[in-house]
Amino acid sequence: MMNEETIDRTPPSISLRKRPRGTGPQSQAHSSWAAQDENSEIISLITNSAENSPPKWRGRSLIIGGGGGNNDDPDEREYYYDDTNEYSFDCSFGTEEKDGIWMNRNDPPGTILAAFVWVFILYSAMTISLLAQSKHLSSLLAYFYNTICVLALASHAKTMFTDPGAVPQCAVPIDAVARQMETHSMCRICKSFKPPCSHHCRICNRCVSRMDHHCPWMNNCIGATNLKSFILFLGYTWIGSALALMIFGCNYFFCNKESCEFTGVLVQLVRIMTVICVASILFTSSMLMNVTYGLMTGIGTIDRLKKKATNTTGNSAEEPISLEDVFGMKRNITWLLPIEPMLPDYDRVVGFSMPQRLLREGGENTSVC
Ligand SMILES: [Zn+2]
Ligand SMILES: [Zn+2]
Repeated sequence: MMNEETIDRTPPSISLRKRPRGTGPQSQAHSSWAAQDENSEIISLITNSAENSPPKWRGRSLIIGGGGGNNDDPDEREYYYDDTNEYSFDCSFGTEEKDGIWMNRNDPPGTILAAFVWVFILYSAMTISLLAQSKHLSSLLAYFYNTICVLALASHAKTMFTDPGAVPQCAVPIDAVARQMETHSMCRICKSFKPPCSHHCRICNRCVSRMDHHCPWMNNCIGATNLKSFILFLGYTWIGSALALMIFGCNYFFCNKESCEFTGVLVQLVRIMTVICVASILFTSSMLMNVTYGLMTGIGTIDRLKKKATNTTGNSAEEPISLEDVFGMKRNITWLLPIEPMLPDYDRVVGFSMPQRLLREGGENTSVC
């Protein structure tokens, strides 16, 4: 499986990766590695480290803030900036490594459910717009509601079309893990390194880093790199549903004016929308609690269910997941927008590194794959 020759599987394109200066992989050769767990097979493990080789940073450097490298505040540290993307940029849709645009096409029911989400949200936006048009609702409130709908739809699209953290065939353990452990998990199906807390998704047919669950409403897995947009979708959908129910409730219980009485088709539209909003607020509330528990304990939904089934919930060594590792550095407006988070250390968050990056950062004597 492994040989001493370096294989560059994918062409470079553009991406943003950040890593605190001085914490990246050092000159190190992973000629092969191996693993053993219930889903894994033993291959072999030899990790050859070039002794005391200093790190050689090959990418562009970018200093953020005025702080030094030892500052504990992530926003004030110096960061190594890597703008090379090891992934494919083909215009093909799918979940395989060669596909440039991530899209799960293996689950038709999931595609239908994801389309239903759009129908429900667009239906709600249309109903609120009609209420505003017929002077039953203030235009300002309708604009605000429709903005929430747009943000929810954008978050849904971002979650659906974002690689949740699929582990590439050529992935290698990150430096800290490689030094600590002598064996590493390998996926029997993907035949690739399996980072800690990752799971193989049989629908996406890939190992997904820090996989929480496969969500049919998103038609995608929820993993390390699309958790932000998933949480935003839940949040905006919850706010939109609560706002609509509040409007209808106030209208029904507290308004005696003639303009508050819905007539004709509006009555039916509002009744259906009330049912949709009640269902979505229940669903998103339970999912938000689920995700919050996962962030606070570091245990995803799948792992939690596994631990519950085996009665090992108390034996957890996982640590809470920091918000920077989900929403990105710099606590500002970007946390609220469904855009790519700028992670403080991409490799640490996804739990694996790429040989191409090790080569760029480690020097010519690095030998991988
Ligand atoms: Zn796998
Ligand atoms: Zn999946």
